[in-house]
Amino acid sequence: MTEHHARKRFGQNFLSDPNIIRKIVDAIRPAAGDTIVEIGPGLAAMTDPLVERLGHMHVVEIDRDLIARLKERYAPERLTIHEGDALKFDFGRLGAPLRVVGNLPYNISTPLLFHLASFADSVTDMTFMLQKEVVMRMVAEPGTEEYGRLSVMLQYRFRMARLFDVPPGAFRPAPKVTSSIVRMLPLPPDKLGAQDEALLGRIVAAAFGQRRKTLRNTLRDFLDEPDFAALELDPGLRGERLGVADYVAIANHVARKGA
Ligand code: SAM
Repeated sequence: MTEHHARKRFGQNFLSDPNIIRKIVDAIRPAAGDTIVEIGPGLAAMTDPLVERLGHMHVVEIDRDLIARLKERYAPERLTIHEGDALKFDFGRLGAPLRVVGNLPYNISTPLLFHLASFADSVTDMTFMLQKEVVMRMVAEPGTEEYGRLSVMLQYRFRMARLFDVPPGAFRPAPKVTSSIVRMLPLPPDKLGAQDEALLGRIVAAAFGQRRKTLRNTLRDFLDEPDFAALELDPGLRGERLGVADYVAIANHVARKGA
């Protein structure tokens, strides 16, 4: 088969180090009977060992050339290929419980994580490779530089752990940055606690929209001084000082006020 030229616009860096591939597949721990979907199988570096262990799996891929290769390589009863954009894919239609994996295209990692978060109810776990810098933001603690909207919105829904790092040399072509493997486990729905999740999202976006400003300014549309007092919250703080539970308390206070 002719060589595939990596496409930058699809964030293509293909894993080529067999030890790293094995380590990632071991971390996923695929078991016969699992329903697994891989986002961006590419040249099948991870797909191959996964199909081997599972018998059958799903993939979502956008690049037509890569899709043609996958179709040649695998019988439909071993691989179900969903052609298209993972950002628009309805992961819910694969049924629950679903496991999601992938060496994600780095150019769309943040919107893809937000899209995937909306399917948390159907998912048992997700294991992804992402830029290390993005993984550090996902798992960041309040008060740190990396802590922001992504940290709060994902930590609201998932327990997350950075498993290990992968150096640029493990890929062809080599990316400029180090990557990390992250595992995401959805929290039980009764642990989440926000009465209105869209409102929580708007409040968190406002709080981190202007990082240098205090909550008094950034949350002006949601809270006035008596609200801060009722919440026992210092309006002179910046958004980065508050934990997920604080944001949930704010959102529920605003929801009650508006009701
Ligand atoms: N899994 C392969 C590996 O580890 O070698 C390839 C990983 S490469 C970083 C990202 C893959 O995602 C490519 O196959 C690319 O074509 C695919 N991709 C990029 N954007 C996508 C999108 N919006 N939806 C689905 N797949 C996408």
